Amino acid sequence: MRKSLVRKLREKGIDNENVLDAIGKIPRHWFFDEIFVEHAYQDKAFPIAEGQTISQPYTVAFQTDLLELKPGKKILEIGTGSGYQACVLVECGVDLVTIEYKDKLSRLAKKMLKHMGYEPKFIIGDGSLGCDKFAPYDGIIVTAGAPTVPQALVDQLKIGGHLIIPVGDRKMQKMLRLTKQSNGNITKEEFSNFSFVPLLGNDGWSK
Ligand code: SAM
Repeated sequence: MRKSLVRKLREKGIDNENVLDAIGKIPRHWFFDEIFVEHAYQDKAFPIAEGQTISQPYTVAFQTDLLELKPGKKILEIGTGSGYQACVLVECGVDLVTIEYKDKLSRLAKKMLKHMGYEPKFIIGDGSLGCDKFAPYDGIIVTAGAPTVPQALVDQLKIGGHLIIPVGDRKMQKMLRLTKQSNGNITKEEFSNFSFVPLLGNDGWSK
């Protein structure tokens, strides 16, 4: 089933072999309740606890590809959720810090990932403010829809680093890739539309 999911992602245009290898390795069904496992290898988002979602595999692959990862790079993920995207990032060889607003989700994800042999740094807090403690980052990936680009995330990016963030209204967001240039300027690339649960917190949506 994992192979067939990888085939589907290739058909949809994902050609990053590291990302496809990671998705081909990770048992996504472990993130699903037993009665829902048949949904685990379909290319769709699915509800998890606390009214949140595990992202669609295509979205995970698309965002991860945009980061242009290299092993050993320090990456911040905002929105740990189930922990699936975090597994993909760790499989790609990065040093990951993942931050989640809802402590129950963070605790569940930490337990699951430990069981699977993945040990990124888990932080509970408001990722719209980034995570100053481990900054600066080679890349930042936001897995919730933001109303605007939080300044803290731009500030916590290294020169040459990418910030991948869906920005828009509560229903639909445009995927953006911001890159910090050596003179400190930010360049912006725009990709297609996606639909994420809202980024909450200080520089997110209020509720
Ligand atoms: N990356 C996740 C995965 O692989 O399952 C999917 C994340 S889900 C689409 C979005 C997550 O962002 C939710 O778990 C939500 O609680 C979290 N979130 C929303 N606002 C946040 C914030 N300000 N800081 C950290 N996490 C936030």
